[in-house]
Amino acid sequence: MLNFELYNPVKLVFGKGEIEKLSTLIPKESKILVAYGGGSIFKNGIYDQVKSALEGFDVVEFGGIEANPYFETLMKAVEIIREQKIDFILAVGGGSVIDGVKFISAAAKFEGNPLDILQKRIIFKEGADVVPFGTVLTLPATGSEMNSGSVVSIKATQEKRDFGGSAMFPKFSICDPTVIASLPKRQLQNGVIDAYVHVLEQYLTYPHKGFLQDRIAESILQTLIEIGPDVVENPTDYALASNFMWSCTMALNGLIQKGVPSDWATHMIGHELTALYNIDHARTLAIIGPNLYRVLFETKKEKLTQYGKRVFQLTGTDEEIARQAIEATVAFYHTMGMKTKISENASNIENTADFIVNRFEERGWKALGERQNITLEKLREIVELSY
Ligand code: NAP
Ligand code: FE
Repeated sequence: MLNFELYNPVKLVFGKGEIEKLSTLIPKESKILVAYGGGSIFKNGIYDQVKSALEGFDVVEFGGIEANPYFETLMKAVEIIREQKIDFILAVGGGSVIDGVKFISAAAKFEGNPLDILQKRIIFKEGADVVPFGTVLTLPATGSEMNSGSVVSIKATQEKRDFGGSAMFPKFSICDPTVIASLPKRQLQNGVIDAYVHVLEQYLTYPHKGFLQDRIAESILQTLIEIGPDVVENPTDYALASNFMWSCTMALNGLIQKGVPSDWATHMIGHELTALYNIDHARTLAIIGPNLYRVLFETKKEKLTQYGKRVFQLTGTDEEIARQAIEATVAFYHTMGMKTKISENASNIENTADFIVNRFEERGWKALGERQNITLEKLREIVELSY
């Protein structure tokens, strides 16, 4: 096992009806900016619950944070924070709203060019001057409610970039599993697959003798396989909803990443597909992941074998199990409504590999993955296999 430090200060408040605890979680006398997305919270009653829980607080609202939030949109909220002297932000939404609020929190007091936060990937360490924020999660998927990362798109340059740091943890997150009742099927499917791939990014690496981390990772994968297809059909079933929500949080709250290597190349390549074609985040991962395992088969096959045996109970030679594990993963993605080729999700895709390879080259990203062995040639192979 590798050395590690574990720090996660998020107060997680989990369960049915917990949104009403909001007023006890936000410092009294705060002037709050409530940030949300395209308006789903008005239809499903979450806005009303938040509003009544915040009775007595001075509240300003900022709506319209889109999926894969734009820097340009978020800067409008930054202006409001500065002008209206906001001292707490409440994100009410999925990963996009929460990530957007992390950016707003960091940018509001940032003295340099806010674009640098993304393009120079600035790290905001504990103690950095940021606006404190909490979240009411409405879509289990990203784990953003309990981690310190954020992904923001830049319209002007058609980029999707990430940043973060230990100052970017929410002060609290309220996770009420009943909120998933109003999620469209597509978003439920996306949530299961995003969380699944988060685990794979931290698990399908090289053997490292982090036995406990492996078992925790496998148990999250198995839970997602067990409940995924059912939760899409029955999102009002509380047992399914609560296990789904908790699995998504556990998949990316830092715990399974400790003491082990992690990959993240599937996410880095997937972000480009969203930037180029606006393909949903989870769907980009379902396209890229399996092809990445195919191209890196030789260096990932020991973990692929372990994954095949323990998660899918496959039998045969180790080599056969490792290959079948990739196919079983694709089959699961298909069960969850994913289309695993770029051409099934977008059109005019002929130049995708050139575009992504050039981008990575410009950024100096020439060695990705847990072994830093994803060269630009391998990157091209992965993307072309995904067409
Ligand atoms: P999302 O983009 O936040 O939301 C997707 C859609 O679901 C929106 O149209 C939203 O509508 C709707 N929605 C949300 N909650 C709803 C509910 N309860 N009922 C009905 N509709 C609802 O989806 P996401 O998958 O959570 O977030 C994706 C973003 O997170 C991507 O940008 C991705 O790159 C990023 N990400 C972040 C991390 C991280 O660690 N920070 C990890 C992985 C991915 P409204 O706009 O109307 O609310
Ligand atoms: Fe993700």
